[in-house]
Amino acid sequence: MDYILGNEKLQQGCIFCFSREKSFDKQGLILSRSADTVILLNRFPYANGHLLIAPNRHAGELADLTAAESASLMEQVRHSVAILKKHLQPDGFNIGLNIGAVAGAGLADHLHFHIVPRWNDDHNFMTVISEIRTIPQHIDQTFDMLLPDFQDLIKTI
Ligand SMILES: [Zn+2]
Repeated sequence: MDYILGNEKLQQGCIFCFSREKSFDKQGLILSRSADTVILLNRFPYANGHLLIAPNRHAGELADLTAAESASLMEQVRHSVAILKKHLQPDGFNIGLNIGAVAGAGLADHLHFHIVPRWNDDHNFMTVISEIRTIPQHIDQTFDMLLPDFQDLIKTI
């Protein structure tokens, strides 16, 4: 219910371009914004700790990215996996990129990676069966838990 009500208050426009001047923003679930990339918790997660990682610049195509932006995105994926492993101890990850609405990208005009932690006994099959998703930790708690490490990350890159 929080998600449904929260959605009504959602910012207008692109979630990755929201609050561009801040290095984090709890309302926007932005864990980290560096010169080249932005990392968000997905407001509609497939699993606890489901992250979205995007270039800071509003770009929809891989070909639009500079080499520096591409490298930065991959670095952020690498560090994000390490931070999620530390806090959530998943057994594996799904990491991917949906390009274009036809491929399932809900926010097709701003390219973004999904990082979805997976556990051996997780219940993500529920998503296939119905719209019910079993998320054991509230997204605000997950945000607070992950924020310090993601803010430290900005200092190291
Ligand atoms: Zn954008």
